[in-house]
Amino acid sequence: MRTRVGIIGAGPAGLLLSHLLHLAGIESVVLETRDRAYVEARQRAGVVEHGVARLLRHSGLGERMDREGITHDGIELRFDGRSHRVDFSDLCGRSVEIWAQTEIVKDLTARRLADGGQVLFGARATAIEGIETDSPRVRHTLEGREEVLECDYVAACDGFHGIGRRSLPEGVVRTFERLYPFSWLGVLADVPPSCEELVYARHERGFALHSMRSEEVSRLYLQVPNGTDPDDWPEERVWEELAERMAVPGWELRRGPLTSKGLTPMRSLVTEPMSHGRLYLAGDAAHIVPPTGAKGLNLALHDVALLAEGLRARYTHGGTGALENYSAAALRRVWRAEHFSYWMTTLLHTSGDAFDHRLQLSHLEYLASSRAASTQLAENYTGLPHP
Ligand SMILES: Cc1cc2nc3c(=O)[nH]c(=O)nc-3n(C[C@H](O)[C@H](O)[C@H](O)COP(=O)(O)OP(=O)(O)OC[C@H]3O[C@@H](n4cnc5c(N)ncnc54)[C@H](O)[C@@H]3O)c2cc1C
Repeated sequence: MRTRVGIIGAGPAGLLLSHLLHLAGIESVVLETRDRAYVEARQRAGVVEHGVARLLRHSGLGERMDREGITHDGIELRFDGRSHRVDFSDLCGRSVEIWAQTEIVKDLTARRLADGGQVLFGARATAIEGIETDSPRVRHTLEGREEVLECDYVAACDGFHGIGRRSLPEGVVRTFERLYPFSWLGVLADVPPSCEELVYARHERGFALHSMRSEEVSRLYLQVPNGTDPDDWPEERVWEELAERMAVPGWELRRGPLTSKGLTPMRSLVTEPMSHGRLYLAGDAAHIVPPTGAKGLNLALHDVALLAEGLRARYTHGGTGALENYSAAALRRVWRAEHFSYWMTTLLHTSGDAFDHRLQLSHLEYLASSRAASTQLAENYTGLPHP
């Protein structure tokens, strides 16, 4: 099998890249190790930055998001039993869309298949070869057979556990990493949200987040120690803890049946460079952020917009400048998002250290009283224009 761009992974990054290349008239093949039902049901992110929402609309993928998603003009911070709203529209003139990653993936998959795109589910990439030549290859298994996909370029959009990052030669690649001593216990509940916008709560017992997937479904998170067993958190305990950590006078948490429960470890990681020879990394394959800043999905989609533009230039007029600049350009946005995600995480999660506790409260009070401080949060959360 031969194609122009071989894409590993049918997550949001791989699927959007394949779609953008199709719009530019460039053929690609997507290899995805899981089946379609699994990929479409995987619960993950839900906040779409202003610029990413525009990208989805411009590429013909905004119709359902605009009809069924929810526009949010701000978030609420809660600490010390009180609440402060960060008004995005007022502070920076932007907003975000609440639109689940599962829905983005469903729309992208349906669109690629309707356009005759090749998305091969059950195809597990096992090796990337020849990246320093003009014809790299992706070895993969499909229906028990060993296959080879030959291409001009390989885009590894295969997430944190994929083979893309490990295929960059040692000596070329450098990894920067920070681990955190806590995780998120995330639950999905069949109950209308108890708030109109996302609530980020800092409490002595730990961080809590109230988010939503729709007018009927709430998504909630609790800071828990690493290694926590979700089975130790029956429904009753989850609701009690959420109510306590998010309490402010006059507010009540609506409760309903939990439909899923899972643990998300927190990690910051950046791989540099994000390309070598004919291999390009995009999304979680290249970088991970703790989810506090809602950046993982957004970074993945920004990466592939840049990569698609580089490939379009290469195939339309032979210019390779944008492709050569891909890693440097993507990394500028990545490091900004890494810093913001780290900052939100350390501001809101408890470490048990009394000095940290005082610093957090001081900074939260500063945010609540300073327009300049709140503007920085609003700008970064809604997504900065491309540097
Ligand atoms: C549990 C969890 C919760 C999250 N919550 C949030 C959140 O609330 N907010 C937020 O902003 N971000 C969140 N994220 C991060 C966000 O979901 C990711 O940043 C986003 O999925 C990145 O998209 P991607 O396409 O780069 O990678 P992925 O979505 O991971 O897609 C990679 C794809 O590659 C496939 N693949 C892997 N290896 C191979 C192989 N060898 N061969 C073929 N296919 C392969 C995988 O099956 C997968 O489908 C969360 C992530 C996780 C894991």
